[in-house]
Amino acid sequence: MFNKSRLPRREFIKLAVASGLSTYFLSSCRRNQQTANEPTNADLIVINGRIATQDENRSFVEAVAIANGRFIATGTDKEIIAYKGDNTQIIDLGGRTAIPGINDTHTHLIRGGLNYNMELRWDGVPSLADALRMLKEQAARTPAPQWVRVIGGWSEFQFAERRMPTLEEINAVSPDVPVFVLHLYDRALLNRAAVRALGFTKNTPEPPGATIQRDRSGNPTGLLIAQPNAGILYASIARGPLLSPEDQINSSRQYMREMNRLGITSVIDAGGGGQNFPDDYQIIEQLHSRGLLTVRIAYNLFTQRPGQELEDFERWVKITKPGQGDDFYRNNGAGEMLVYSAADFEDFTEPRPDLPQTMEEDLKKVIGLLAENQWPFRLHATYDESITRFLNVIESVNREIPLTGIHWLLDHCETISDANLERIKTLGGGIAVQHRMAFQGENFLKRYGKEATERTPPIQKMLEMEIPVGGGTDGTRVASYNPWVGLYWLVSGKTVGGTTLYSENNRFDRMEALRLYTANADWFTSTVGEKGAIVPGQLADLAVLSADYFSIPEEEIRGLESVLTIVGGQTVYADQEFSNLAPPPLPVSPDWSPVAYYGGEQYSQQKSNQISLSTHLSTHVGCCLPASLNSKISNNLSASLLNSASGFSGWIGGMGCGCFI
Ligand SMILES: [Zn+2]
Ligand SMILES: [Zn+2]
Repeated sequence: MFNKSRLPRREFIKLAVASGLSTYFLSSCRRNQQTANEPTNADLIVINGRIATQDENRSFVEAVAIANGRFIATGTDKEIIAYKGDNTQIIDLGGRTAIPGINDTHTHLIRGGLNYNMELRWDGVPSLADALRMLKEQAARTPAPQWVRVIGGWSEFQFAERRMPTLEEINAVSPDVPVFVLHLYDRALLNRAAVRALGFTKNTPEPPGATIQRDRSGNPTGLLIAQPNAGILYASIARGPLLSPEDQINSSRQYMREMNRLGITSVIDAGGGGQNFPDDYQIIEQLHSRGLLTVRIAYNLFTQRPGQELEDFERWVKITKPGQGDDFYRNNGAGEMLVYSAADFEDFTEPRPDLPQTMEEDLKKVIGLLAENQWPFRLHATYDESITRFLNVIESVNREIPLTGIHWLLDHCETISDANLERIKTLGGGIAVQHRMAFQGENFLKRYGKEATERTPPIQKMLEMEIPVGGGTDGTRVASYNPWVGLYWLVSGKTVGGTTLYSENNRFDRMEALRLYTANADWFTSTVGEKGAIVPGQLADLAVLSADYFSIPEEEIRGLESVLTIVGGQTVYADQEFSNLAPPPLPVSPDWSPVAYYGGEQYSQQKSNQISLSTHLSTHVGCCLPASLNSKISNNLSASLLNSASGFSGWIGGMGCGCFI
């Protein structure tokens, strides 16, 4: 069953040149060429595994050799051991399954990292009783002026009780510490302390496209509902206290470690509201310059100023360009927000929103500019009706400035029609899909019925048409950042609540599902052949799994994690029998952080059917900025809202905003 995959040196160099590998690597090859036919000494050899290479033949191999951060050979143990030199490290996988490192083609890692240590994650918590217990414990340890934040990534259908918490329950577990519970981007539950902290009163006017629920006397109850404008939700989140810069560094590192724990080695960061380039990239850039990134990040630039989107991109095309950076941190073009008038909210509890008539004109200016500058771009697109209009614009730009060679894509595409898939195919675009339906499927089903749900989104059709398709999570707010939940959704066709959405013809074979997050993902960074498969010449990123993805019961897929994650030939995460290879522990700061007590998502931690308090690792107490010092973000965002095409500005005035995408 094991296929040998080892290229003769000349072929290997040809491949390396063709796929644009680093000069560092090529010079090392040329050096080695002079030593005739001796195999290169590997830095690391991994043996005795069931390694799913994700090469074109979907081969499995036993062993792999790594040198200078790249795979140099794959094959049987016997073949690969020939690459052992005096200083070669050997890791015996003991028969475990390994895969190429996961590449999430749409997530919000940079923003998520800045906030991770402040968030109590309900992703995968099995019951509302557990969720409320965690909330109560966390409220008791959270110092003023901090809040307890549960910021998306969960669905009421995952709970045994199959319902959301009530305001009474939230007030009961935390009478004094502000609690903000975001449910996807459709509503938020605030306790009374949070209502006070945000200054919502009887006199607060109703925001356009959203509702502040009130009691008989007109006082806000604490329930905020997007109908479907999520501005009220993200504006409110952004008004909470931030972490100090030091703690943001710790938080970003903890979040990357969490990614590594799930086998993620690369992501494409889709930007986000409040994620203004270059100001809000300072923490991640600092980590990059200190060599502390453990996840490769390709980042897209997301406009921040409604009505001034063109100016944002005009500025950015002058100061940076796609591809700028390196294997760990690189500009990936524009999006997922190109113009605010094109934002179609994905709240399936509400009717589909119609985009304003100005959208086409706004979008054409921006895409025209990007095409002129040969910038790849991505665009948030939920509904077919919006997509029809987006494609009108893209076709019109393409007639004037051909998009040939530019890897542009639409994100999400839940309800896209075959006709629009044809148009994307003709234009040479791609589609990045995410498991948002695993969290909102029940609501979609209720509103649109079974037949429509069956092809929401029509991923098999996209692949049949040979459109590039990448898999992703859209973590952290509208879905969990756990890619195994996405793989579970693709393979089982079920939501996190166990509701079946799809019949066989829109479900996936496990190998093919995994390809969306590995081999297929590279198209989305315009670096095809650079990573995503365990083949000679590619970046040496791999994950060794806690169980065999290919044979475990379907229900266990979402509980998978990595026990050994390697990025560029270096171990960035290790557990169980590989614990002695793990990098030094990184204590969580601030010490009250929920991450220090619960870790992050719970899908992989609920196998023992309990949520236990993890060891309290903190050794450093961080200081937190008071709300009044959040001026930078608040100012940026209030400026955004003052210009908002949604008409939200008149209501919201000086409130900040976060991101709804
Ligand atoms: Zn989006
Ligand atoms: Zn997104």
